[in-house]
Amino acid sequence: MTDCLFCAIATGDIPAEVVARTENVIAFRDIAPAAPVHVLVIPREHYATAAELAEVNPLVAAELFVVAGQVADQEGIATSGYRLESNVGDDAGQTVNHVHLHVLGGRDLGALVGSAGVE
Ligand code: AMP
Repeated sequence: MTDCLFCAIATGDIPAEVVARTENVIAFRDIAPAAPVHVLVIPREHYATAAELAEVNPLVAAELFVVAGQVADQEGIATSGYRLESNVGDDAGQTVNHVHLHVLGGRDLGALVGSAGVE
């Protein structure tokens, strides 16, 4: 898709610090890390949301989670724990309209449900 930042990162047109890549998926460090480890895992092809990706290409949706696990291993946070997050839409704060999994870890991340005020 034209004018998509993450499509441009996937093709290499915009540089990023890539930490893992497979045929269908690429993982790179977030430019504004919210935790000591903050990596984004994306499909190379453009899909807006996780639901859209899972519906159209479930194998690649699964591959995102496999690569996220490999990144966690590689970054040394698999044992201490980490969070996988995918924001959808404005209320969740999605700023890039190309599905991505945030892999966050390296510190105590707190309880997301509690911090969002949900009982
Ligand atoms: P979201 O807000 O869930 O859509 O996540 C988008 C993420 O992309 C944010 O955490 C940004 O910091 C990150 N981001 C934006 N531009 C870049 C870039 N050029 N390289 C790496 N990460 C980026």
